[in-house]
Amino acid sequence: MSPMKLEVIEKTENKLVFIIEGVSIEMINALRRIILTEVPVMAIDEVIVLKNDSPLYDEIISHRLGLIPLKTDLSVYKLPQDCECGGYGCPMCQVSLTCDVTNTTNSPLEIYSGDLNSNDPKIIPVHPKIPIVKIDKKDKVIIEAYAILGRAKDHAKWQAVSNAAFRYLPVIEFNENEITDSEVIELIIKMCPEDLYSSKNGNILKLEKDYWKTCTLCMSCVNSSDGKIKVSHKNDAYIFSIESDGVLPFDVLIKEIFKIFNGKIEEFINKLEELEIES
Ligand SMILES: [Zn+2]
Repeated sequence: MSPMKLEVIEKTENKLVFIIEGVSIEMINALRRIILTEVPVMAIDEVIVLKNDSPLYDEIISHRLGLIPLKTDLSVYKLPQDCECGGYGCPMCQVSLTCDVTNTTNSPLEIYSGDLNSNDPKIIPVHPKIPIVKIDKKDKVIIEAYAILGRAKDHAKWQAVSNAAFRYLPVIEFNENEITDSEVIELIIKMCPEDLYSSKNGNILKLEKDYWKTCTLCMSCVNSSDGKIKVSHKNDAYIFSIESDGVLPFDVLIKEIFKIFNGKIEEFINKLEELEIES
């Protein structure tokens, strides 16, 4: 296996794509699973409905509140089970968000995530315009909600990212001189769903330089060229992409993944040592 290499190819506020080389598929999958199920984030877990004139049942509003992504600060808050209060609820493990809206206008009014007032200005909805419920004129909604840290393996509302996936790094090879039939070239160009091929003068097939970014290994070019184009992939190189809804910044997320991973290895070693002592 080649030495480990990592290259970031896309980084925006909501998306991180990198190429990772020299890592086994088991290792990379373990990281993917930790991202999807183990990284703790904040979400509303308890709702007290004091007044609800809206057409939606209390339960539906509570469910909608639970799914609102909240900005998370992992340096301050602890998981309730790890907190000194024993999970009862204290400023170290719980944030309160209240919503008190009366429709004083003469038309229906939409209540948004931005109408939630948090007692910690850092723990607020990621987007202020997520609709919660619509109320008629003179109607009222008063809600008290409590957000805690949790993990997606217990409920999807605590998922730290909206998607984390990886695929093999594709390798496309062909000899320009072997594919000269203009009809075949036209077919290859037409059949590629990612538009990765073009032609020069109609008889020389050209491939996009950074085809590996979008090639999905669909093999349509292999079939249309009658096997003259060879598509394969490297065995230890992957394109890893993470899509975030903005709950955690990527640098915090990545550090957290390795913290959890190391914790698991340590736990495993400790359990193994205990067993050795016993036998
Ligand atoms: Zn606590």
